[in-house]
Amino acid sequence: MINVRYNNTLNLPKTTFPMRGNLSIKEPIRLNKWKQSEIYKKLRQDRKGCKKFILHDGPPYANGHIHIGHAVNKILKDIIIKSKNLEGCDSWYVPGWDCHGLPIELNILKNNNGKFLTSNKIMLYCRKYVEKQIYSQKVDFIRLGILGDWDNAYRTMDFINQAGIIRSLSAIVKKGYVFRGLKPVNWCFQCSSALAESEVDFLEKVSESIDVAFFCIDNYKLVKNFGVNNCIEKPIEVVSWTTTPWSIPANQAIHVLAFCIYVLVDVGVKFILLAEQLVENCLNRYQLNGKIIAKTFGKELEKVRLKHPLHNIDAFYDRITNIYIADYIAIKTGTGIIHASPAYGEDDFIVYSNLQYNENMLKLVKSNGFYIKYLSVFGGQLIWIANSEIINNLNNRIIAKELILHSYMYCWRHKNPLIKMATSQWFVGMDVGKISLRKKALDCLKNVKVYPSSGKTRLYHMISNRPDWCISRQRSWGVPIPFFIKKKGVYCTNV
Ligand SMILES: [Zn+2]
Repeated sequence: MINVRYNNTLNLPKTTFPMRGNLSIKEPIRLNKWKQSEIYKKLRQDRKGCKKFILHDGPPYANGHIHIGHAVNKILKDIIIKSKNLEGCDSWYVPGWDCHGLPIELNILKNNNGKFLTSNKIMLYCRKYVEKQIYSQKVDFIRLGILGDWDNAYRTMDFINQAGIIRSLSAIVKKGYVFRGLKPVNWCFQCSSALAESEVDFLEKVSESIDVAFFCIDNYKLVKNFGVNNCIEKPIEVVSWTTTPWSIPANQAIHVLAFCIYVLVDVGVKFILLAEQLVENCLNRYQLNGKIIAKTFGKELEKVRLKHPLHNIDAFYDRITNIYIADYIAIKTGTGIIHASPAYGEDDFIVYSNLQYNENMLKLVKSNGFYIKYLSVFGGQLIWIANSEIINNLNNRIIAKELILHSYMYCWRHKNPLIKMATSQWFVGMDVGKISLRKKALDCLKNVKVYPSSGKTRLYHMISNRPDWCISRQRSWGVPIPFFIKKKGVYCTNV
């Protein structure tokens, strides 16, 4: 066999470059040289007066070591900055860090027996922790060869930035956009806090859906409103469809549409009340044969009294639920009749607030997702676990039960399902005040260039579809809202 030296068969250029990269040794030497010669500073001096190209970085979160995602992100940005400098631009890279938020606070609480820490201590520990995180991430970014003004990176926790946030808040308050309100917000049990709309992801979820029958106790009034008088010898049940059985204990009303036609259906042993459009679909699901005996508009059903469906398991549930008129119901699925628990549904709450039911709103779920201890039968249970027990206790009140796959809201951080929960929060009202903030923001967006343009569409939808923005959180590590509360009005500190 002939011993061939293949390198002799290649036509390679003759250079002084070494054969091996040896980067683990050479890179630190090169980076050190850049540092000693203040290369970034020199670049600024050389390019002074040239066309500016500034990359103000969307900050990484100051928590944990850098990973491959950071590396890709920072290196791609660095390629752009360096190429723009070579093109002749005065191209800056402004690094920074996002310092606030729950993961940092949870870390501090976990490592310092958090139950006993005051807010001041939590903030102090968080600040120290973030400083360490920033230092270690900065060293690693520089090691990647990223050129930038590292000594003057911005940090969201710097007091100058916090003051800027509060100044902006003050301006928004003065324009009348900020209000405090009790209303259902997106609530994460893991965060133990309200979430902004932007912190909510929609994912597919399997839920147990049930059709629950509410006994009517105003049979005579009801049939009279249907224009018939001769059928009160049978029980009448108003059927509501829900995917949140856990909210049944907090039920305070049944909602129907004013100008939708509802029908009384004779199914043999009883009459059931449904929206006309959904009768066929419902009877199929219930595996019942039925005959429509009367029709009327939803508005004729107002204030008909029903029994709470758990009425026979405990005195707490032995109460009346009225039918009220609402305008949000889509007659597409279910029965066209909605069970309402004002503390746990946005639409339920609006109807409750407009009508002032004359009863206190039932708030039965704690911030961690457990029912209050004193709730009859289900007290102290996690709502998701209690779901099946509630279904068992509803027993013969359930006409149909099935699993459905639907789009449901999740915490973007914890990936766990959220609920709507009425709590007192601060909001920036997108459509309050003299000029709609939403309209103004959308008008301004038209003149902003976004690359790629899909980002602009996303931002447009985010602004146009999100209602009032919840700005308060029930946590310590963040920028505090410095309000003094008077019984009437809101006052913001001047800074
Ligand atoms: Zn969460």
